[in-house]
Amino acid sequence: MIEKNFIGHTLSAKGERVTRGSNPVTSEVLPGDFINATDEEITDTVSKSALAFETYRTKTGREKAKFLRAIAEEIENLGEVLIERCCAESGLPLLRVKGECGRTTSQLRMFADLIEEGSWVEAVIENGDSKRSPIPKPDLRRMLVPLGPVAVFAASNFPLAFSTAGGDTASALAGGNTVIVKAHSAHPGTSALIAEAIIKAAKSTDMPDGVFSLLHGSGREVGQSLIQNPLLKAAGFTGSEKAGRILFDMASKREIPIPFFAEMGSVNPIVMLPSSLKLSNAKTLAGSITLGSGQFCTKPGLIIGIDGPDLDDFIRDLATDLSNIEPQAMLSEIICNTYNSSIEICLKRDNIKIETKDLFLKKKNFAKPVLISVIGEEFIKSPELSKEIFGPFSIVIKCKDIEQIKKILNQIDGQLTGSIFGEEEDFDDFSNIINKFERKVGRLIFNGVPTGVEVCSAMHHGGPYPASSDSRFTSVGTMAIKRFVRPVSYQDWPNHRLPEELQFDNPLKIWRMVDGNFTKD
Ligand code: NAP
Repeated sequence: MIEKNFIGHTLSAKGERVTRGSNPVTSEVLPGDFINATDEEITDTVSKSALAFETYRTKTGREKAKFLRAIAEEIENLGEVLIERCCAESGLPLLRVKGECGRTTSQLRMFADLIEEGSWVEAVIENGDSKRSPIPKPDLRRMLVPLGPVAVFAASNFPLAFSTAGGDTASALAGGNTVIVKAHSAHPGTSALIAEAIIKAAKSTDMPDGVFSLLHGSGREVGQSLIQNPLLKAAGFTGSEKAGRILFDMASKREIPIPFFAEMGSVNPIVMLPSSLKLSNAKTLAGSITLGSGQFCTKPGLIIGIDGPDLDDFIRDLATDLSNIEPQAMLSEIICNTYNSSIEICLKRDNIKIETKDLFLKKKNFAKPVLISVIGEEFIKSPELSKEIFGPFSIVIKCKDIEQIKKILNQIDGQLTGSIFGEEEDFDDFSNIINKFERKVGRLIFNGVPTGVEVCSAMHHGGPYPASSDSRFTSVGTMAIKRFVRPVSYQDWPNHRLPEELQFDNPLKIWRMVDGNFTKD
């Protein structure tokens, strides 16, 4: 395993401080002293990335697709070494890590298919008309082009699928950008193995030195220095609202501001209509709240229902199911300590009722599922209760009527998702709730839990702030490529000098909008 920074194809270790991985299940420190990048190395990395961009941006869709597929293959070639290291560093179970590895490689291949086909550039052509009166109409041709070097801040909770070769990296590379990953300090070894695979793929497919780099070190030092480098053109981030906001503000306050796409906190409210308060739904919700020890941005953290004996029975069933679920390790000691201290603060409130038993575990880094309930009026008075607690925790809000549910939906922050459970016939009576939800969330779910995010073209994984910094973009699925590109219009340009995507005879045979009609002609 390489313990140095990857400045493109060059390995570098000028720093004195190191990052070490540790196993959250056993607390054992894992092998590997990963050298933190120095300011000089960060500067060299971004300069090399900017230089490599000049070549990489000119590669065809087919060439870039070959690169992405080679990365997927090299990751598969890592085999058990990768899976073992990732399980050890994250504490995640074997099946989950294997599944996530599959998701990572299929994401890369999905982007490869997208760019090989080519229509994603959204070519729009308006033919000119020299005879138009009173002024002739120019010939205008518009398409999407890459931005330049993109920084990726890896997520702790997806050490593969949202880390070194995860969705942000795949979408930025697919769009024609070069990438610099700030490795997450909770899984440096996993990051190093994947970086090695990416560099091998870059070499075997003749990509420029600097198309990909990986830097170790803390967010405060390496992350902040990276974001302020004038040659950096954009960044993608998944993590806490606190860190996301710090970096977003830095990106905006630069002399030349850059787009910073952050996916941050979400409590993913679920409205349980009266007909849905069944034992089977309590089981489904308990599974979703505790999946991955509750360390998903889509974990349901707020459950809203109309107060009464049916809701009380539902809460009892949900609390019993949660109490029976075997506690799992959390991703790191810091995340587990933050979970326990947030729960401790919450449980001291006198306006809540604790529904689960045996709240704290003696086992280090393991999290006990916790469910509390609160009446609607009290929730409205306590906005802190709607903040995300990262881990297997959820709140049931007991509302007196539909009006109170609407008031709560009005009050809460933007969310990644919102779910409604109920029979179809209930929906007429509760249609106002759906309207409220639509304004707050990025994905509306009917009779389903928000965990288990499908990676596909129709997925929108992003929502109004603070769920994400820009609700117009997704970080999951092929549309994520749109974050790292910008439109350019060519006016009255000679045909042979235009990018192939815009040339008169459509040599790439992509879908284009020509004078208002979608066509491949
Ligand atoms: P995090 O602390 O926000 O870290 C994410 C990235 O930001 C890491 O690369 C981290 O660097 C960096 N960073 C942290 N503080 C920074 C600062 N002051 N300036 C610049 N960069 C900084 O998130 P995490 O470690 O993944 O998990 C911690 C918390 O984030 C959780 O408790 C949870 O609330 C939230 N979270 C949310 C989601 C979501 O999808 N909504 C996902 C994961 C986590 P280091 O490597 O130095 O830590």
